[in-house]
Amino acid sequence: MGLFGRRKTVFVDSDVLVIGGGMAGCGATYEARYWGRDLKVVCVEKAHIDRSGAVAQGLYAINTYMGMQWGENQPEDHVRYARNDLMGLVREDLGYDIARHVDSTVHKFEEWGLPIMKDPETGQYQREGKWQIMIHGESYKPIVAEAATKAATKVYNRIMVTHLLMDKTNAKRVAGAVGFNVRTGDFYVFRAKAVIICAGGASHIYKPRAAGEGMGRTWYAPWSSASCYALPILVGAKMMQMENRIVLTRFKDGYGPVGAYFLHLKTYTENAYGDEYESNWYEHTKEIVGDYVDRQPMPTCLRNHAILEEIRAGRGPIRMVTKEAFQDPHKEKVGWENFLGMTIGQAVVWASQNIDPKHTNPELTTSEPYVMGSHATCSGAWASGPEDCAPDDYQWGYNRMMTIDGLFGAGDTLGGAAHKFSSGSFTEGQIAAKAAVNYVNDLGKDHPQVSEAEYEDLKKTVFRPLENYEVGRNEIVAGTVSPSYLLPLHGLQRLEQIMDEYVGGIGANYITNEPLLTRGLELLEMLKEDLEHLGAEDLHQLQRAWELQHRVIASESVTQHTMFRKETRWPGYYYRGDHPKLDDTDWHCFTLSRYDRESGEWNLEKAPVHHIID
Ligand SMILES: Cc1cc2nc3c(=O)[nH]c(=O)nc-3n(C[C@H](O)[C@H](O)[C@H](O)COP(=O)(O)OP(=O)(O)OC[C@H]3O[C@@H](n4cnc5c(N)ncnc54)[C@H](O)[C@@H]3O)c2cc1C
Repeated sequence: MGLFGRRKTVFVDSDVLVIGGGMAGCGATYEARYWGRDLKVVCVEKAHIDRSGAVAQGLYAINTYMGMQWGENQPEDHVRYARNDLMGLVREDLGYDIARHVDSTVHKFEEWGLPIMKDPETGQYQREGKWQIMIHGESYKPIVAEAATKAATKVYNRIMVTHLLMDKTNAKRVAGAVGFNVRTGDFYVFRAKAVIICAGGASHIYKPRAAGEGMGRTWYAPWSSASCYALPILVGAKMMQMENRIVLTRFKDGYGPVGAYFLHLKTYTENAYGDEYESNWYEHTKEIVGDYVDRQPMPTCLRNHAILEEIRAGRGPIRMVTKEAFQDPHKEKVGWENFLGMTIGQAVVWASQNIDPKHTNPELTTSEPYVMGSHATCSGAWASGPEDCAPDDYQWGYNRMMTIDGLFGAGDTLGGAAHKFSSGSFTEGQIAAKAAVNYVNDLGKDHPQVSEAEYEDLKKTVFRPLENYEVGRNEIVAGTVSPSYLLPLHGLQRLEQIMDEYVGGIGANYITNEPLLTRGLELLEMLKEDLEHLGAEDLHQLQRAWELQHRVIASESVTQHTMFRKETRWPGYYYRGDHPKLDDTDWHCFTLSRYDRESGEWNLEKAPVHHIID
């Protein structure tokens, strides 16, 4: 039973269980109630749904809005845009499915009270760019969370989900999940007929640029701890394109976003000597990626690539030219408001470093890599597509169901559909929930059953770090280094260093190769062995311990995929030094993986990319 096995176990039954109450989770919870009036819809969130996930701080723009009511864009246009940005490799069926529904989602947000800026002349939503509309978004998340909370049978806040539960007679069917309350330490067993994973993306798997006291200062939310990938990987769901990590160009030290600056304020970049530099790298980039360099707009990774090359050539830093735009008082106000509405830290960093963008052009930098399926990349789980437009290869069940029966996903969780952003993630949550309700209704009396032995074993596993610490701490009188346990922070730092040095992080200039990846996998294996000895001094550290476990398995997946794809598909995100060029002949395909937890083996395969939009 162990020292902590006597903790209370709470059982929760549901028809639809939503894991993660961020944008996708709120969309899923809201929509599950719409289609499943009498169903029990439960949402479980490790923080508090009112201020959780990547949108917790608020946003200044909704990045995915077609504007079909005004004839601005059509869903097909968005598919072409995302395909171009990802150098050809997107699931067009999934992207199209979101794009055709996303406008009505945004209209709902406005109905619920989200202030959307209007163009004073046309009365239409104020555009920041072709796809983005501007909002007063400080309260975006609470507004969306209110709708989900009212729709849910119950929202369980402060519970971190650690593992999924499988049906005791069918190992390929999900039956629920377990986790623990990060405040009370109660163990939770959620029994469910369908599960929708909406647990955000992965930050802190690579060593961040901000170290030491600045460690929490990353671009992606530091609490996005890869649960959305680890949970499906560990039960054998197929994953796709996990090599497609993202690197962001951001304002230095505060990771402030540049979108509004480029698109709305029309600022531009220059090298340390005040020169334009992108054109210097045109021929060189063409040699690596061919005609993709001529596509408009230029793919995001290639813009990063020009910055990286210019810095390597010794002409850094790259600066954003703000001095001109900020002479206009309106633009100056928008420039500051942009940060105050979503990244206050950047404004504070500038103040602390005596940077007034009206007088000083601020430095840009490229971030450490992150893994997320909803931003400008699309790593994640491999999901069945919409019945009416998914090619046969992409359809095996209900829309957005993974390769595990009853297991659905949305937002960062699912791969293939880049550029969903906040509105698209909510929309995908809605799509997944509608399908999950159909799945539950079709089950009839054939309900999955959880095994008592399985959740009792997991209970011991979940609390083991508390026990390791309780026993091991007697061996030391001071300090944090023990012969018997590894603290979550130590494990995290070790993971970040492995990923940085061997799998193409900032320290390696984003370059890796087969020998490095092979060694990286060996080191990750050794780290995994040591995770058995994680020690947690309290419930907060227990959460950190499980976040680390999730990050490690997701990192292993990234490394395996990076090894499998023998080309440099997205220069600017990462480089295979041994395969430095894009290779459409052999690699115009998706990479898929499946992890076998019994053997610890990974199976990788290629899947065709079908283009359904011209
Ligand atoms: C820095 C940044 C800036 C962005 N800017 C914009 C923008 O300007 N406009 C725009 O439209 N979009 C923007 N986005 C994108 C948008 O925020 C994401 O697309 C969206 O939040 C993804 O939704 P999600 O539900 O998948 O993840 P999230 O919204 O991050 O939600 C994940 C949720 O899961 C919870 N969770 C995680 N693990 C567990 C677990 N084990 N157990 C229980 N709960 C768990 C988390 O606490 C969180 O609440 C930005 C994203 C980032 C990171």
